[in-house]
Amino acid sequence: MPIPFSPPRIDEENIAAVNEVLRSGWITTGPRTKEFERQISDYCGVQHTICLNSATAGLELALRWFGVQEGDEVILPAYTYCASANVIAHCGAKPVMVDINDDFTIDPEKIRAAITPKTKAIIPVDIAGLPCHYDEIMQLAQDESCRKLFTPQTENQQKLGRVLVLSDAAHSFGAQYKNRRTGSLADITVFSFHAVKNLTTAEGGAVCLHLPDTFDEDEIYHYLCRISLHGQSKDALSKTFGNWRYDVYEAGYKCNMTDIQAAIGLVELNRYAENLQRRRAIFQRYSEALSKYSTFQLPEYEMNERISSYHIFPLRIHDCTEEERNRIMEEIFQHGVSVNVHFIPLPMLTFYKNSGYSIENYPKTYDNYSREISLPVYFTLTNDQVETVIEMVIQATNKVITKL
Ligand SMILES: *Cc1c(COP(=O)(O)O)cnc(C)c1O
Repeated sequence: MPIPFSPPRIDEENIAAVNEVLRSGWITTGPRTKEFERQISDYCGVQHTICLNSATAGLELALRWFGVQEGDEVILPAYTYCASANVIAHCGAKPVMVDINDDFTIDPEKIRAAITPKTKAIIPVDIAGLPCHYDEIMQLAQDESCRKLFTPQTENQQKLGRVLVLSDAAHSFGAQYKNRRTGSLADITVFSFHAVKNLTTAEGGAVCLHLPDTFDEDEIYHYLCRISLHGQSKDALSKTFGNWRYDVYEAGYKCNMTDIQAAIGLVELNRYAENLQRRRAIFQRYSEALSKYSTFQLPEYEMNERISSYHIFPLRIHDCTEEERNRIMEEIFQHGVSVNVHFIPLPMLTFYKNSGYSIENYPKTYDNYSREISLPVYFTLTNDQVETVIEMVIQATNKVITKL
């Protein structure tokens, strides 16, 4: 039986929850979405969360709220999924890519070097579930020297008085940094509930607000709700029972979460602790078994007050070319085990390559990518399957590199 990479956990519990919504008479944004938002806020230790149909929508709405536009720059790691950069392009701004640390997270020193008077935001990405160096990044954003460069052009930029730190936490729901959960580490944090993510609603995302006190988060929450629904003054729920008149304040988007998605999310959140526990056990077993071979470089996932959400297990092979890595993966696939690569660096994707980015400028990104293989991690992966994965990885590496 082949071992898939990341199947969703679908069972009677979430099927029953979806059925209940379908029978309730209310299937779009409504009471379940609002309840899911409240529970995410509690879990993450923030006051305001808005649920949307994707993380991509959340990132873009956050940039739009801050007024990021043509002529602006936004700093992000070269090593991430395309969504983190595409949203910057959607706003007409320039993605400024910087290199990463050995642990896959954005290098704060590289951020500092990339800041210009055009910089409006930084998007750190918690790759694989490991939180970035948020203290350093927040410090940097608040540094006098960086503040001096900052050139506010909108009311919100004026109010913040510095670059916005917008966390792409698509991988890191439930991860911790210095005893605080993601969601409360940056100004704004965006989670993904896409089908392959730790916590899924099939498709979905959430935006957690954690802005300085000078901002009225209640007002920002309502702004985000409105702009996720065409800029319309009332949502479907508040338009029922004769309350029909509405207005449109701006040409908004359409990216709200439905109660069907929220119902799945509520079930998943309720059992998220056991999900993380199981993922952690799989990380531990992979680490224990593969650490016996010096050819393997194991990912760090619990270190210096940073605790991962155990989303992706990014194994690296020492002294291995990209081509050898590909052959190892091919061998593993042939034995019925699904592995993956996270991620193909942005400068290697046609659109960004054609836009003038070159992978040569990101040596650590390329080095990590070229030697990386992501191993399957999910709640329903059995101990026997974990052993099979380990066996196949060792066997395939032996066959291609013959150094073990
Ligand atoms: C999955 C992912 C996203 C996008 O999430 P969606 O909910 O599919 O929009 C953004 N960034 C990273 C790093 C991701 O892995």
